[in-house]
Amino acid sequence: MSTYKPTIGIEIHAQLATNSKMFCGCDNNSRKAQPNVNICPVCIALPGTLPVVNKGAIEMAIKLAHGLNAKVATNTSFDRKNYFYPDSPKGYQITQMDQPIIQKGHVEILVADQFISIGIHHAHLEEDAGKLIHPEGTDYSLVDFNRAGTPLVEIVSEPDIKSTEQAKRYLQEVYNIVTSLGVCDGDMQHGNFKFDLNVSVSNSPELGTRTELKNLNSFRNAERALSYEINRQIEVLEGGGTIEQETRGWDDTKAVTFSQRSKEEANDYRYFPEPDIPPMVLSRELVSSVQSEIKILPINVRKELHLLKLSAGEQDILISQPKTAEIFMSAQARLKSPELVKQAVNWLVGDYQAILVKSKKPVLTGGNLAELITLIEDGTISSKIAKDIFAEVVAGLKPTDIVSSKGLKQLSDNSELELIIKKIILDNPKPAEAYRAGNERVLGFFVGQAMQATNGQANPTKVSALMVKLLKE
Ligand SMILES: [Zn+2]
Repeated sequence: MSTYKPTIGIEIHAQLATNSKMFCGCDNNSRKAQPNVNICPVCIALPGTLPVVNKGAIEMAIKLAHGLNAKVATNTSFDRKNYFYPDSPKGYQITQMDQPIIQKGHVEILVADQFISIGIHHAHLEEDAGKLIHPEGTDYSLVDFNRAGTPLVEIVSEPDIKSTEQAKRYLQEVYNIVTSLGVCDGDMQHGNFKFDLNVSVSNSPELGTRTELKNLNSFRNAERALSYEINRQIEVLEGGGTIEQETRGWDDTKAVTFSQRSKEEANDYRYFPEPDIPPMVLSRELVSSVQSEIKILPINVRKELHLLKLSAGEQDILISQPKTAEIFMSAQARLKSPELVKQAVNWLVGDYQAILVKSKKPVLTGGNLAELITLIEDGTISSKIAKDIFAEVVAGLKPTDIVSSKGLKQLSDNSELELIIKKIILDNPKPAEAYRAGNERVLGFFVGQAMQATNGQANPTKVSALMVKLLKE
């Protein structure tokens, strides 16, 4: 059996959901735009133009620092990474090398029912390049600068990840963090959240030579590419070979990784401080005022759901919907027992999801959901009525208001129920006779009649007990 163990580090590039680009006022959303429409003299680097840092991007980085359990650097600055490629109008990229805005942190992930911590080395701001288009059957390339200058945050993990499962959970958790904080809209198909995976294997305490898997943009492919690459490296080493330090791509169709660039060809980027942007000092007041806007983090929700013994997959349904997670957290704070909190989960992953599909603007609040659950619990309304009025609760109405305006209180008063039940028995002499003769299945019919006669307002348990008693009289 192989004794080789993998070590994985991950760099994530998340596109910030700001309105404008990193250093100019151009629209940051070009998904539906014609090529080279969202550009200006700054982002196509005309001589004499100067970059101005987007305040929104700084604020998003400050929020993200909180999500990554990291400190915001008091002093932060930008650097130039020099390279020539036609998709970069400047001939360099503005990034952060020496003083990244987000310092050391950690992300907690749940794997095999245990919380483990993955270290964050740092995270920094930078700008994206444009896009090259190679029209089929031509001998030229086109360039679209709409993306040039798009703000990105690169999140660099420590090499703390020890398996493909941990890698996948880490990626999902960071995705949950950036989307729930609203710093990235998470559209993975359009490359808004992509990652590079550094992986090595070793059978000793010393780390092995690593390869880098570039530009993956789906969790499933990350898992497949890592499994393939770990096995490939083990096979090479067990066959007596050595691992080349290189960049490798992932071929989705063939399901293999392939060599792209060896270390010898690696670029020297000649980094130096960006002379056009002065270093920034971020005050503690700014940091705490921006971070005070954050209501909840995915990990807080996950820990609550884990206490309820929900599986990681069930937890993901709530956590992947930041607004639903917020409703859950506010409802659970108002409910008295774990049983009731579980009911809140049931409403949110069941009926609520069905309504979400149809309604674009649900306004369910945690307070109203907790109130609905409490009304069922204290016997004010039946669970049938609760289901009937749920759509109105989701539309923003208060459950107690709906119940009182429509007179939906559960009928629990015995004398009132007895009158209704006696009438049903009188109206249905044949089934009543059948019941008395021993056919107990008829009871279901009678309970159904009583529920119908009370518009679902009767307490079904009570109806059933009274029905049995009165049928025997
Ligand atoms: Zn621009």
